[in-house]
Amino acid sequence: MIKNLYFCEHCRKKIPELGDIHFVEENSDRGFCSEQCILNFYKPYMQEIEKEESFFRSKLNLPEDEGHNELLGNEHYLELALNQPHEVWILENDLEQTFFTHILTLNVDSFTFYFILICTHVEGTPSFVFYRTLTGSEELVAKYRRDFRYEEQKSGDAAKEQGDEVSEEIIEEIELKKSSFLAHVLQLRSENDIPLEHFLNYDKFLERTVHNADEIYEYIDEDDEALKIHIKSFVEDKSSFFYIVVLMKIKDNSGRELHVPIIGFPSTDQNLYKYFATGKRLSENLKN
Ligand SMILES: [Zn+2]
Repeated sequence: MIKNLYFCEHCRKKIPELGDIHFVEENSDRGFCSEQCILNFYKPYMQEIEKEESFFRSKLNLPEDEGHNELLGNEHYLELALNQPHEVWILENDLEQTFFTHILTLNVDSFTFYFILICTHVEGTPSFVFYRTLTGSEELVAKYRRDFRYEEQKSGDAAKEQGDEVSEEIIEEIELKKSSFLAHVLQLRSENDIPLEHFLNYDKFLERTVHNADEIYEYIDEDDEALKIHIKSFVEDKSSFFYIVVLMKIKDNSGRELHVPIIGFPSTDQNLYKYFATGKRLSENLKN
């Protein structure tokens, strides 16, 4: 009977069916019985975010109210800011709580405004909006561009998208590296590991592993290629796994060095982890 015992995180009421629990945060088992409980639970967060905005505004000498509240209240813009924002920024704290900042740029009467909203995501889509604000100030919107920008990129395709900035030769090299790593992974995989056909569901962990890894290793491979391995552990649906990303150092056409992810995949296999956790461990803590 304990096996099916669920309580609302806010009012502690028993929730009879697993399917009736509302989840608000990714990778969190915090569940609620109703919209009202979600609101009440997150109220302190909302208040802090509001205080923070006031603080930003006073530092920048901006008025609390820039007007244009009709834009902020516009359902269509809200919809766009939720589902088709121009920028998404991810903030992750040390408890691995993740907040998303969506920014939608609006051009109204030859003025540029930024519709900013802070929310959580569940399964890659916005689930709960903590806050929304609107500003015409570049400086204010800059404060919300933190910690790292989320860009939907499938492993390896990053460089292709920058096609005009990276030479054909390098793209080919990346492709080769990618297939050789993939072959390696397939060879080394244990049968009990996460099935290959589920890998797509884990793509969302790539960006977080790249930008906020638990461990980073650096080594030069047999082709003299400088590689970085980023590893981060996650818990989802009560089971834990690693996400491993291999990045390769390349130079773009202007000679700038960058690391592009060539492959990213999840695993529950300690041996595969050990295989990739190799080379020189970088001690710098990227979180700070
Ligand atoms: Zn409740």
